[in-house]
Parts: sequence; C-alpha cells; structure tokens
Amino acid sequence: MSKIQMTTPLVEMDGDEMTRILWKMIKDELLLPFIDLKTEYYDLGLEHRNETNDQVTFDSAEATKKYGVAVKCATITPNAARMDEYDLKEMWKSPNGTIRAILDGTVFRAPITVKGIEPTVSKWKKPITIARHAYGDVYKGVEIKVPGAGKAELVFTGEDGTEIRETIHDFDGPGVIQGMHNIKQDLWFATKDTISKKYDHTFKDIFQEIFDAEYKEKFDEAGIEYFYTLIDDAVARVMKSEGGFIWACKNYDGDVMSDMISSAFGSLAMMTSVLVSPHGYYEYEAAHGTVQRHYYKHLKGEETSTNSVATIFAWTGALRKRGELDGNKELMAFADKLEKATLDTIESGTMTKDLALITTLENVNAVNSEEFIKAIAERLK
Ligand code: NAP
Ligand code: MG
Repeated sequence: MSKIQMTTPLVEMDGDEMTRILWKMIKDELLLPFIDLKTEYYDLGLEHRNETNDQVTFDSAEATKKYGVAVKCATITPNAARMDEYDLKEMWKSPNGTIRAILDGTVFRAPITVKGIEPTVSKWKKPITIARHAYGDVYKGVEIKVPGAGKAELVFTGEDGTEIRETIHDFDGPGVIQGMHNIKQDLWFATKDTISKKYDHTFKDIFQEIFDAEYKEKFDEAGIEYFYTLIDDAVARVMKSEGGFIWACKNYDGDVMSDMISSAFGSLAMMTSVLVSPHGYYEYEAAHGTVQRHYYKHLKGEETSTNSVATIFAWTGALRKRGELDGNKELMAFADKLEKATLDTIESGTMTKDLALITTLENVNAVNSEEFIKAIAERLK
C-alpha cells in the first residue's frame, strides 16, 4: 500500500508522562504505517524545556505561526513538587499559557460522543461545545496580598498623563486584591455583567454590536439564534437543555466548564480541544493532562489502561486541517477514517477502563493502553 503524501509539515509538540507514551504508540501504530508523516518536531517534555530555558516552547509557537497548524501532547505545568522531581532551574510557566498568549484566539472544546457511553445528565442528547476565550482575565491578572489596613486603588495613566482612578476597597485589615485586563477583539460571550458593570459588560456589548453588524442576517438565514444570558442562568439552563449548542465562555469559565462537560459526557479523555486564532493558526490538543498516576504505574512495569481517544483526535483534527489548507483530500479522508475506526472500536465493545466502568454496552472487552491502539490499527488495515 502506498503511503499518503504531505506537502506542508505539521508542527509537532511532544509532551510528558503517560501522554508522551501514548503519543509514540499513536504515531507508530496509527500514523506512520499509513502516512508519509511530515512534522517539524519540538520536544516540550519538561526536561527539554528546562534544558532550553523554555525557549523550545516559544519556538514551537513561532513555528505554528509559520506553518499554521500544530498538534500538541499534554505537558506538565511545574509546581513545587515538580521542581524537585525534575531538578528544575525555574518553575517554568504553563506551556499552554505561553502558546495561547503568542497565538491568541479561542479554544473550542467538544465532547466526543459514542454509542454506549451516555452523559450523566440524562437530558443531554447532543454534544455541548465550549468556546473559551483564551486571552487575559485571571490568567494574565496581577494580585496583591494586602498586608493590613490601607486603601487599594485601580489607576490607569494614559500616554498623555491623564489619570483614571477607582477605589477598589478601603481595607481596615489584611485581604487580597486582583487586577485583570483584556483588550478589544471580536468574540462571543456570556457572563456576569450585573455585578461586573464595566469589565464583563464590555464583553456583552461587543458581542451584541458584532452580532447585530455582522452575523444577524447570517444567523436568520441559518435558522440559529444568538442568546445572551447571565453566567449563573446559563449554568442552570445548560443542565436542563438537550445540548447541541456552542457555549461561549470567558477564559476561566471555559476552563472549569469544559472539565465539567467532558466528565459528564463520560471521561476527560472524550473531549477534543482546538485553539483557533483570529490570524488563522490552529493548535490541536487533548483537553486532559499528562495522566501522572498512570505514568507512575507504567514506570513500575504495571499495566495501564489509559484512554488515547482525545490524543488521537488531536492528531486527526490537525491532519484534517492540514489537508484542508493544502487541498490534500487523501489526508482529510484518512483523518475521517481514523476517527471512525476509533469510535467503531469502542462501539464494538473494546475500550479502556475509564469507559468500561460507565458503558451501557454488554460484553465489554476492557483492554490496556496498547491493546486499544492496536485494535484501532486492525480496523485501519
Ligand atoms: P490529568 O492528567 O487530566 O488526570 C486526572 C485524572 O483523570 C487521572 O488521574 C485519571 O483518573 C483521569 N484521566 C485523565 N485523562 C485520562 C485518560 N486519557 N485516560 C484515562 N483516565 C484519564 O490531570 P492531573 O493528574 O491533575 O495533571 C497531571 C499533569 O498534567 C500536571 O502536571 C498538569 O500540569 C498537567 N496538565 C496538562 C494539561 C495540558 O497540557 N493540556 C492540562 C491539564 C493538566 P484515574 O487516575 O482515576 O484513572
Ligand atoms: Mg482545565
């Protein structure tokens, strides 16, 4: 069988722990036998980030600007424990934070639904996609631990020297304060404008202005609607809905709500995640982390049953987008085929333990990490 050719490389960002193990298995079993895979490889594993003083993370984001499409493995965001474990020079920042700040944009997260894995919220019949605004807010905020009594103020000094001042709070004892920022750009939104009358309200206004000016007619034509509501009302409505819509969230709301949605749809490993930048760059990843607990078992030589679906879908998403941009129909068709083979494998009863525990299917064959990937490969041949 001749392999599918690629014209432009994908930016490949390798990662850490159990997902790094899955990454290699996916390439060896599901990609390399079928595609003449072209990638520009960046090792974002923590050891290499430490060796390069995190330069490799910046380089990988710049490469994404050059080529347009990246696929990323989950990576460790170091904390105090990781400082010792990896003997780090510094507590390097979250690679996702660094990459998102360079590429800008919105993270879309959608559950991967499959027969036999039903959402815990029984009303949900269709996937709920979270669109998470990936810039600013608490992720670029500054914070002060207030040591004692005093006045906290928010001060803006214009280039011409004009000052705008707002009292945050007159403290009579210790406390905490936080300053957040964002910049004007086009996006959709649902938030807490009744309490945050300027910060959140600005987003609400931008959504409405852009919707009225650019999207209203197209929405009417398509028979869909734009709906604004308070974030707490949105949460209540989502639980009672049937699903089947995109939920636009502020950065932090999207972080938290996407984990809630993926867990309720079955497993953290059953959710796709893609960063879409307004400049036309795309970065595909799994929404979950490096699955540390499974990795330690793997290191001890014990068997693991880690679900590779989200990582496989990060690859298929990137390959399909690369194919679309290059007019490479064969590559796009392969991405479809690999996704179908993955879902068919689960629907036929072969799945990892996280799904086996919750499936409504009978005669389930719970397999280990490697067996699951090999079962998918069998269907591709
Ligand atoms: P995690 O890796 O998402 O895992 C949390 C738990 O969820 C696991 O212990 C496992 O539960 C379950 N799980 C997640 N993915 C699974 C999969 N593919 N198959 C089966 N079960 C899965 O989160 P974490 O343990 O809190 O974080 C570990 C590291 O990942 C941290 O260093 C963190 O910085 C990093 N992280 C990276 C990203 C990213 O790069 N996008 C995102 C989040 C976290 P059981 O143990 O019960 O089986
Ligand atoms: Mg999260």
